[in-house]
Amino acid sequence: MHILATNDDGVTARGLLALVQEMREVGEVTVIAPDRNWSASGHVKTLHRPLRVKKARLADDTPALATDGAPSDCVALALLGLLPEKIDLVVSGINPFANLGHDVTYSGTVTAAMEAAIGNLPGIAISLDAPADPQIHRDYAPAARTARRVVERVIKHGLPKNTLLNVNVPYLPEEEIKGIQVTRQGLRVYRDELVTRDDPHGRPYYWIGGEVPTGVNEKGTDFGALNDGYVSITPLELDLTAYKLREEMLSWKFE
Ligand code: MN
Repeated sequence: MHILATNDDGVTARGLLALVQEMREVGEVTVIAPDRNWSASGHVKTLHRPLRVKKARLADDTPALATDGAPSDCVALALLGLLPEKIDLVVSGINPFANLGHDVTYSGTVTAAMEAAIGNLPGIAISLDAPADPQIHRDYAPAARTARRVVERVIKHGLPKNTLLNVNVPYLPEEEIKGIQVTRQGLRVYRDELVTRDDPHGRPYYWIGGEVPTGVNEKGTDFGALNDGYVSITPLELDLTAYKLREEMLSWKFE
Protein backbone atom coordinates (compact mmCIF):
# COMPACT_ATOMS: atom_id res chain seq x y z
CA MET A 1 0.00 0.00 0.00
CA HIS A 2 1.56 3.26 -1.19
CA ILE A 3 -0.11 6.34 0.26
CA LEU A 4 0.39 9.89 -0.99
CA ALA A 5 -0.02 12.50 1.75
CA THR A 6 -0.59 16.18 1.08
CA ASN A 7 -2.30 19.15 2.70
CA ASP A 8 -3.19 22.78 2.10
CA ASP A 9 -1.45 24.35 5.10
CA GLY A 10 2.05 23.74 3.80
CA VAL A 11 4.66 21.05 4.25
CA THR A 12 5.70 22.26 7.73
CA ALA A 13 2.17 22.03 9.21
CA ARG A 14 1.82 19.86 12.31
CA GLY A 15 -1.41 18.34 11.04
CA LEU A 16 0.43 16.83 8.06
CA LEU A 17 3.11 15.39 10.33
CA ALA A 18 0.49 13.72 12.56
CA LEU A 19 -1.23 12.26 9.50
CA VAL A 20 2.00 10.95 7.97
CA GLN A 21 3.11 9.30 11.22
CA GLU A 22 -0.20 7.45 11.49
CA MET A 23 -0.34 6.49 7.80
CA ARG A 24 3.06 4.86 8.13
CA GLU A 25 1.31 2.17 10.20
CA VAL A 26 -0.79 1.37 7.13
CA GLY A 27 1.75 1.47 4.31
CA GLU A 28 4.55 3.27 2.58
CA VAL A 29 3.97 7.04 2.63
CA THR A 30 5.21 9.66 0.18
CA VAL A 31 4.71 13.33 1.07
CA ILE A 32 4.23 16.03 -1.55
CA ALA A 33 2.82 19.23 -0.12
CA PRO A 34 2.75 22.93 -0.92
CA ASP A 35 5.67 25.06 0.26
CA ARG A 36 3.23 27.61 1.73
CA ASN A 37 -0.31 27.93 3.03
CA TRP A 38 -2.96 27.40 0.33
CA SER A 39 -6.00 27.26 2.62
CA ALA A 40 -9.24 28.24 0.87
CA SER A 41 -7.47 28.14 -2.50
CA GLY A 42 -10.12 25.94 -4.17
CA HIS A 43 -9.57 23.41 -6.91
CA VAL A 44 -6.53 24.70 -8.77
CA LYS A 45 -4.78 23.52 -11.90
CA THR A 46 -1.65 25.60 -12.46
CA LEU A 47 -1.15 25.93 -16.21
CA HIS A 48 0.24 29.45 -16.66
CA ARG A 49 3.59 29.04 -14.91
CA PRO A 50 6.08 26.27 -14.25
CA LEU A 51 5.88 24.25 -11.05
CA ARG A 52 9.01 23.85 -8.95
CA VAL A 53 9.66 20.91 -6.66
CA LYS A 54 12.19 20.97 -3.81
CA LYS A 55 13.30 18.43 -1.25
CA ALA A 56 12.02 19.13 2.25
CA ARG A 57 11.82 17.41 5.61
CA LEU A 58 9.04 17.16 8.14
CA ALA A 59 9.77 17.99 11.79
CA ASP A 60 10.54 14.30 12.53
CA ASP A 61 13.04 14.28 9.61
CA THR A 62 10.72 12.42 7.22
CA PRO A 63 11.80 13.23 3.66
CA ALA A 64 9.15 15.13 1.71
CA LEU A 65 8.75 17.09 -1.51
CA ALA A 66 7.56 20.69 -1.42
CA THR A 67 6.10 22.41 -4.48
CA ASP A 68 5.10 25.99 -5.23
CA GLY A 69 1.81 24.64 -6.57
CA ALA A 70 -1.59 24.21 -4.97
CA PRO A 71 -2.63 21.06 -3.07
CA SER A 72 -4.40 19.74 -6.18
CA ASP A 73 -1.22 20.43 -8.18
CA CYS A 74 0.72 18.29 -5.68
CA VAL A 75 -1.60 15.36 -6.37
CA ALA A 76 -1.53 15.94 -10.13
CA LEU A 77 2.29 16.09 -10.13
CA ALA A 78 2.50 12.80 -8.28
CA LEU A 79 -0.03 11.03 -10.49
CA LEU A 80 1.32 12.41 -13.78
CA GLY A 81 4.76 10.92 -13.26
CA LEU A 82 6.79 12.90 -10.73
CA LEU A 83 6.78 9.75 -8.62
CA PRO A 84 8.01 6.63 -10.37
CA GLU A 85 6.13 4.32 -7.99
CA LYS A 86 2.39 3.72 -8.33
CA ILE A 87 0.14 5.40 -5.75
CA ASP A 88 -2.81 3.51 -4.27
CA LEU A 89 -4.52 6.17 -2.19
CA VAL A 90 -4.33 9.90 -1.40
CA VAL A 91 -4.86 11.47 2.02
CA SER A 92 -5.05 15.21 2.57
CA GLY A 93 -4.79 17.01 5.89
CA ILE A 94 -5.03 17.18 8.74
CA ASN A 95 -6.55 20.60 8.29
CA PRO A 96 -6.82 22.46 11.62
CA PHE A 97 -10.34 23.67 10.85
CA ALA A 98 -13.50 21.91 9.72
CA ASN A 99 -14.51 21.72 6.06
CA LEU A 100 -18.29 21.47 6.08
CA GLY A 101 -21.16 22.06 3.69
CA HIS A 102 -20.27 24.64 1.05
CA ASP A 103 -16.67 24.74 2.25
CA VAL A 104 -15.76 21.78 0.08
CA THR A 105 -15.10 23.67 -3.16
CA TYR A 106 -13.14 26.40 -1.33
CA SER A 107 -11.05 23.95 0.63
CA GLY A 108 -7.55 23.08 -0.54
CA THR A 109 -7.71 20.05 1.75
CA VAL A 110 -10.83 18.69 0.06
CA THR A 111 -9.90 19.70 -3.50
CA ALA A 112 -6.64 17.73 -3.18
CA ALA A 113 -8.83 14.67 -2.54
CA MET A 114 -10.99 15.70 -5.53
CA GLU A 115 -7.88 15.67 -7.68
CA ALA A 116 -7.23 12.11 -6.50
CA ALA A 117 -10.73 11.16 -7.66
CA ILE A 118 -10.01 12.75 -11.05
CA GLY A 119 -6.89 10.60 -11.19
CA ASN A 120 -9.01 7.50 -10.46
CA LEU A 121 -7.63 7.02 -6.96
CA PRO A 122 -9.42 7.00 -3.61
CA GLY A 123 -9.05 10.42 -1.99
CA ILE A 124 -9.68 11.16 1.68
CA ALA A 125 -9.68 14.67 3.19
CA ILE A 126 -9.30 14.98 6.95
CA SER A 127 -10.04 18.09 8.97
CA LEU A 128 -10.15 18.84 12.66
CA ASP A 129 -12.83 21.17 14.02
CA ALA A 130 -10.41 23.10 16.24
CA PRO A 131 -11.27 26.55 17.58
CA ALA A 132 -9.78 29.51 15.72
CA ASP A 133 -7.77 30.63 18.77
CA PRO A 134 -4.15 30.81 17.55
CA GLN A 135 -2.83 30.36 21.12
CA ILE A 136 -4.00 26.76 21.57
CA HIS A 137 -1.66 23.85 20.87
CA ARG A 138 -3.91 21.56 18.83
CA ASP A 139 -3.87 17.84 19.51
CA TYR A 140 -4.06 16.11 16.11
CA ALA A 141 -3.74 12.59 17.52
CA PRO A 142 -7.48 11.72 17.67
CA ALA A 143 -7.95 12.97 14.09
CA ALA A 144 -4.88 11.05 12.91
CA ARG A 145 -6.17 7.81 14.46
CA THR A 146 -9.59 8.47 12.92
CA ALA A 147 -7.90 8.95 9.55
CA ARG A 148 -6.26 5.56 9.93
CA ARG A 149 -9.56 3.86 10.73
CA VAL A 150 -11.17 5.43 7.67
CA VAL A 151 -8.23 4.59 5.41
CA GLU A 152 -8.29 0.96 6.56
CA ARG A 153 -12.00 0.77 5.67
CA VAL A 154 -11.38 2.35 2.26
CA ILE A 155 -8.60 -0.16 1.57
CA LYS A 156 -11.05 -2.96 2.44
CA HIS A 157 -14.11 -1.68 0.56
CA GLY A 158 -12.66 0.64 -2.10
CA LEU A 159 -14.38 3.78 -3.35
CA PRO A 160 -16.40 4.04 -6.57
CA LYS A 161 -14.94 6.11 -9.41
CA ASN A 162 -15.30 9.90 -9.09
CA THR A 163 -15.97 9.81 -5.38
CA LEU A 164 -14.00 10.93 -2.32
CA LEU A 165 -14.49 11.13 1.42
CA ASN A 166 -14.61 14.33 3.44
CA VAL A 167 -13.81 13.50 7.07
CA ASN A 168 -14.26 16.00 9.91
CA VAL A 169 -13.25 15.23 13.48
CA PRO A 170 -14.66 17.07 16.50
CA TYR A 171 -12.15 18.84 18.69
CA LEU A 172 -12.61 16.56 21.70
CA PRO A 173 -10.40 14.22 23.73
CA GLU A 174 -10.54 10.83 22.01
CA GLU A 175 -12.62 9.19 24.76
CA GLU A 176 -15.28 11.87 24.38
CA ILE A 177 -15.78 11.32 20.65
CA LYS A 178 -19.10 9.46 20.44
CA GLY A 179 -18.49 7.58 17.21
CA ILE A 180 -18.56 7.98 13.46
CA GLN A 181 -21.54 9.14 11.40
CA VAL A 182 -21.83 8.89 7.63
CA THR A 183 -23.41 12.20 6.72
CA ARG A 184 -24.51 14.50 3.92
CA GLN A 185 -23.34 18.05 3.33
CA GLY A 186 -25.00 20.54 5.64
CA LEU A 187 -25.51 24.24 5.16
CA ARG A 188 -22.72 26.60 6.07
CA VAL A 189 -23.63 30.10 7.24
CA TYR A 190 -20.91 32.49 6.15
CA ARG A 191 -20.48 35.73 8.02
CA ASP A 192 -18.11 37.36 5.57
CA GLU A 193 -17.76 41.12 5.58
CA LEU A 194 -16.02 43.31 3.06
CA VAL A 195 -13.39 45.45 4.75
CA THR A 196 -12.48 48.50 2.66
CA ARG A 197 -9.41 50.57 3.49
CA ASP A 198 -7.05 52.92 1.71
CA ASP A 199 -3.48 51.98 0.87
CA PRO A 200 -0.60 54.49 1.52
CA HIS A 201 -1.21 55.93 -1.97
CA GLY A 202 -4.84 56.65 -1.15
CA ARG A 203 -6.20 53.87 -3.36
CA PRO A 204 -8.89 51.65 -1.87
CA TYR A 205 -8.23 47.97 -1.27
CA TYR A 206 -10.62 45.27 -0.17
CA TRP A 207 -10.28 42.43 2.26
CA ILE A 208 -12.80 39.66 2.81
CA GLY A 209 -13.08 39.53 6.59
CA GLY A 210 -15.82 38.87 9.11
CA GLU A 211 -16.51 36.22 11.71
CA VAL A 212 -15.78 32.49 11.37
CA PRO A 213 -18.66 30.71 9.64
CA THR A 214 -21.30 28.81 11.55
CA GLY A 215 -23.74 26.26 10.12
CA VAL A 216 -27.27 24.93 10.28
CA ASN A 217 -27.42 22.28 13.00
CA GLU A 218 -29.39 19.51 11.32
CA LYS A 219 -29.34 15.78 12.02
CA GLY A 220 -27.72 13.68 9.33
CA THR A 221 -25.44 16.47 8.18
CA ASP A 222 -21.71 17.00 8.62
CA PHE A 223 -22.34 20.06 10.79
CA GLY A 224 -24.93 18.23 12.89
CA ALA A 225 -22.62 15.24 13.51
CA LEU A 226 -19.75 17.43 14.72
CA ASN A 227 -22.11 19.39 16.94
CA ASP A 228 -23.23 16.13 18.57
CA GLY A 229 -19.63 15.02 19.16
CA TYR A 230 -19.33 12.54 16.28
CA VAL A 231 -16.79 12.20 13.51
CA SER A 232 -18.48 13.09 10.22
CA ILE A 233 -17.66 11.23 7.01
CA THR A 234 -19.38 12.70 3.97
CA PRO A 235 -19.00 10.78 0.73
CA LEU A 236 -18.74 13.32 -2.09
CA GLU A 237 -18.88 12.93 -5.83
CA LEU A 238 -17.48 15.11 -8.55
CA ASP A 239 -20.79 15.16 -10.41
CA LEU A 240 -22.35 18.45 -9.22
CA THR A 241 -25.41 18.16 -11.48
CA ALA A 242 -28.61 19.34 -9.81
CA TYR A 243 -30.69 16.37 -10.93
CA LYS A 244 -34.04 17.67 -9.64
CA LEU A 245 -33.55 21.02 -11.33
CA ARG A 246 -32.46 19.27 -14.50
CA GLU A 247 -35.76 17.32 -14.58
CA GLU A 248 -37.71 20.53 -14.02
CA MET A 249 -35.79 22.35 -16.74
CA LEU A 250 -36.83 19.78 -19.31
CA SER A 251 -40.18 21.66 -19.32
CA TRP A 252 -38.59 25.07 -19.93
CA LYS A 253 -38.94 24.60 -23.70
CA PHE A 254 -35.76 26.17 -24.99
CA GLU A 255 -36.52 25.26 -28.61
MN1 MN B 1 -5.89 24.69 5.62
